[in-house]
Amino acid sequence: MKTAIYPGSFDPVTTGHLNIIRRAAKIFDKLIVCVMVNVGKNPMFSLEERVDLIRMVTKDLPNVEVDGSDMLLAEYAKTIGNCVIVKGLRAGSDFENEFQMAMINHKINPDLDTMFLTAEHQYTYLSSSMVKELGRYQVELSDFLPEQIIPIVQQRIRTTIQGGK
Ligand code: ADP
Repeated sequence: MKTAIYPGSFDPVTTGHLNIIRRAAKIFDKLIVCVMVNVGKNPMFSLEERVDLIRMVTKDLPNVEVDGSDMLLAEYAKTIGNCVIVKGLRAGSDFENEFQMAMINHKINPDLDTMFLTAEHQYTYLSSSMVKELGRYQVELSDFLPEQIIPIVQQRIRTTIQGGK
């Protein structure tokens, strides 16, 4: 069985992430979307909330599992066993960072390979941080976020703005 892990911060999951999830789910027998802790980022949603949001938007995909972990990705992959990492590449700017991470993960866990799916053109500019920024200015988010989670994200942005005043 071919299993892949799609790791990220997903704060929150965007239509760009979902596009990668759908495509990877067709390629692999099982896809584990894993929300990881990124110490460099101060997330808007907790790890558990991010897991729940991804579960909401992947309900129709039977071979997709959603998990959360504070482990190092290369160590997490060992707990899964025979698997590969899948990542999305938006533009040249993603490449350098992703290339470095793939090398490091491979060094820590030599059985672990990383495969890349290129973003579809309509998502190349899309990131979770851009969505949060646009949401602050009441921009329509339907091209950027899965429909089910838009009200939840808008509500959180409003609370965050109020809390910051
Ligand atoms: P973000 O940069 O949006 O905070 P994450 O850290 O959650 O993204 O990224 C998880 C993975 O998803 C990374 O491999 C990233 O390159 C990929 N990714 C993020 N946004 C997109 C997109 N719009 N299209 C394709 N891949 C994406």
